[in-house]
Amino acid sequence: MRPRRPDNEAAVCPVCNHAGGRFLYHACDQTYGLPGESPVHRCAQCRVLYLWPQPSPEQLAGYYPSDYYSYTPEVEDPSWIGRTIRRMLRPLETPAPPFSGARVLDVGCGAGNYLTALRRLGWETWGVEPAPAAVAVARQSGHHVLAADLERIDLPERHFQLVTMSHVIEHLRDPCAALTQVARTTAPGGHVLIRTPAADSPLARLLGPDWLPLDAPRHLVIFTARALRSACEQAGLRLVRISRRQDPRYLISSLLRKWLSLRQGLQPRQALLTRPRHIVLGFPLAWLMQALRLGDEITVKCRRPGEG
Ligand SMILES: [Zn+2]
Repeated sequence: MRPRRPDNEAAVCPVCNHAGGRFLYHACDQTYGLPGESPVHRCAQCRVLYLWPQPSPEQLAGYYPSDYYSYTPEVEDPSWIGRTIRRMLRPLETPAPPFSGARVLDVGCGAGNYLTALRRLGWETWGVEPAPAAVAVARQSGHHVLAADLERIDLPERHFQLVTMSHVIEHLRDPCAALTQVARTTAPGGHVLIRTPAADSPLARLLGPDWLPLDAPRHLVIFTARALRSACEQAGLRLVRISRRQDPRYLISSLLRKWLSLRQGLQPRQALLTRPRHIVLGFPLAWLMQALRLGDEITVKCRRPGEG
């Protein structure tokens, strides 16, 4: 990695618009090993991490291969250990609908795996997804899917009793505009659940470009807990709860990557370990970090004010 600030105008934070973010390092694609380097900055005001300049949509398209993880249907792991791990790593909490026919919208629903879990509980399931192949899979599963970017569609006002965004907000060019759109489409009294990596976690600080959830260049902005709470409140939502989690897969993979980069120099490689025996190694440390509230993933639960 070249610790050289890119030559361009002052970096502008996509969350608070503060100009003059501090250049930290260049990050490369750790998940698929695709070429290119992304300049990562930290906002001096709200402390989020962000790419500047942001890659164009055309540049980014090549970084979402057809086997991108959320585009494919979930396959049941045949081993008991794999099934146990999957249960422990549920994408988000699965709340029951407040009444029969209540509507949930999953933003960035991918192939609809989470929507399928929600439908079993009794939700009417809706999704927004820009990737055509994933839209087709989700529709085959019987979900209502709007094929578009959240930033480019008008959602009905006060319509959904629950809106979920799991590992989506970090991909958006204008996350605050997206939150405003989400707040607007949530029914009064309805809830919003957001899960995303945490820029203020010890792993993010210690591992820098080797921290796997950085996932450059697909992740354009990584919030801190405080910045995400503030952005939700500015969008008109009220915080109910904020929690931290540590995914043992990302913990082990990030540490392994750091070790490799120290030993051999950085080499782009597919670094996410998914074999159950590797994941099990990470469980004790992940559990400890979670108990100490040091996990590198935040989940925010908000409520739109008003009567449901
Ligand atoms: Zn900022």
